[in-house]
Amino acid sequence: MPAKKLRSKTNPKVLGKRVFRVSRSRTGLGVFATKPIKKNAYIVEYLGPLLTNAQCDARPENRYWFEVNSRWTIDGATRSNLARYINHSCRPNADPMIRDRRIWIKAIKNIEAGDEITYDYGKDHWNAYIKPKGCLCVKCRAKRTSERAEARAANARKRKRAERAAAR
Ligand SMILES: [Zn+2]
Repeated sequence: MPAKKLRSKTNPKVLGKRVFRVSRSRTGLGVFATKPIKKNAYIVEYLGPLLTNAQCDARPENRYWFEVNSRWTIDGATRSNLARYINHSCRPNADPMIRDRRIWIKAIKNIEAGDEITYDYGKDHWNAYIKPKGCLCVKCRAKRTSERAEARAANARKRKRAERAAAR
């Protein structure tokens, strides 16, 4: 059975393009709210052909594959799938919702205009694609910044101890 074409049936609840734009982010492209988005709103559908496990086995994996259940995977690599531009965050403001072999990206917090929309890609994807390069999300960058500050403070304490020892 060939992969289905892009399924175009839209969900009336999905806010779609009018509430976000794709533009430059820290990590390349990202998706940013252009209007306030309320918690629990469906922002955009994750679109792409639906693949069976057998079809997945027969082609090279790409990072936009999204497993909807144990039998089906959406290949979201197509450019018309704007949801593919949503970046990962370890402290996300959205979450994918899977229902009837379709995926919607749903707000899990109130999102302000200008905020980057993010969701947690999950442990497997994180380990395979994000960990090797270092996670660039807000939470991980803040953690690295505080670790560096901590290391600098520890060095300063060490230096002061050495200075005091030398002065004796
Ligand atoms: Zn992170």
